[in-house]
Amino acid sequence: MEVRVAVPLRDFYNGRKTEFTIEKQAICSACEGSGSADGHVETCNTCGGRGAVIKRQQLAPGLFQQVQMQCDACAGKGKTIKHPCSVCHGSRVVRESETHELDIEKGMPKGVRITYENEADESPDYVAGDLIVHLVEADPTLGAQDHERTDGTFFRRRGPDLFWREVLSLREAWMGDWTRNVTHLDGHIVKLSRKRGEVVQPNTVEILKEEGMPVWHQQLENNDGLQYGNLHVEYVVVLPDMMDRGMEKEFWSVWDKYRRKSGVVLDRVLGRPEGGVRMPDGEEHDEL
Ligand SMILES: [Zn+2]
Ligand SMILES: [Zn+2]
Repeated sequence: MEVRVAVPLRDFYNGRKTEFTIEKQAICSACEGSGSADGHVETCNTCGGRGAVIKRQQLAPGLFQQVQMQCDACAGKGKTIKHPCSVCHGSRVVRESETHELDIEKGMPKGVRITYENEADESPDYVAGDLIVHLVEADPTLGAQDHERTDGTFFRRRGPDLFWREVLSLREAWMGDWTRNVTHLDGHIVKLSRKRGEVVQPNTVEILKEEGMPVWHQQLENNDGLQYGNLHVEYVVVLPDMMDRGMEKEFWSVWDKYRRKSGVVLDRVLGRPEGGVRMPDGEEHDEL
C-alpha cells in the first residue's frame, strides 16, 4: 500500500515533523474481527467448516467428474454468523482514518520512500502489509504567510544543488553598483552585489558555495555533520523597451559620439559581401 505525500521544498530544506491521515481497512473493534454481535460464530453445516463442497458434474452421458467448489452457504468462510455485528455488518472490517507522524529529514531526496511496517490494510485473515509513503515535492505556490512567500519558495532543486534566476536591469548588469537580498528557504538572506564598474554578462551563473540543500544524513559518508550543496544563481538581463524621451535622446547622442570615434561596422570587419552570393548550378563540374 503506497500513498503520495507532497510537501514544499522548504520542508525538505529545514526538516519538519508533521502528520498525514489515510483511510484504510481496519479490523472492526466492536466485534474484534469476528463479525458477530454476540461473539458467537458457528461452523457452517453445509460444508462442515471446510468452506468448500464436492460436486459431481456430468461431462457426457455416463461420464462424471468431481469438482471442489466454494460453499455458497458461507461464501467459503466455513463459518456462519446468526447475529452480525451492527458496526461492520458481519464483514469483520471497517474503513477508518488513521493519522501517522511524518518525519521529514533535512535534505531527504525527493521521491524518497518511507516505510511504516504492518500499517497497510488490516484483515483478520492475514498480517497487514507495509504502508509506504512516497514523499514528493509540491509545486511551489505563494502562500499567505511571510515564510511561505520567500524567494526560496521558488528555488529549483537538483540533487543537493539549488537554482535561482535573478533579474538585472541593463544599468545594473553594465555599470554595477547594486545589491540584492534573496531570502532563502529558512529565511536567511543571501546577499548578491556588484561594485561600480563590475559587469555581469547576461546568463552568467554565479555559484554560491554551501547555499544549496543540506545533504541528507544517509548520504553523508560517515553519517554525521551537516553539509550543503551549492546555490546556482543565473543572471538574466532585461533591456528596457520604453524610454523617457529625454533619456533616449541623451543615450543616442552618447552612443553616436562614441560610434563616430571608435565604432566598427561588423559586416565590413568580418568581410561579408554586400549582396547575395550565387551558388554554382548542377551543370558545372569540378576538375578532378
Ligand atoms: Zn459452508
Ligand atoms: Zn464488527
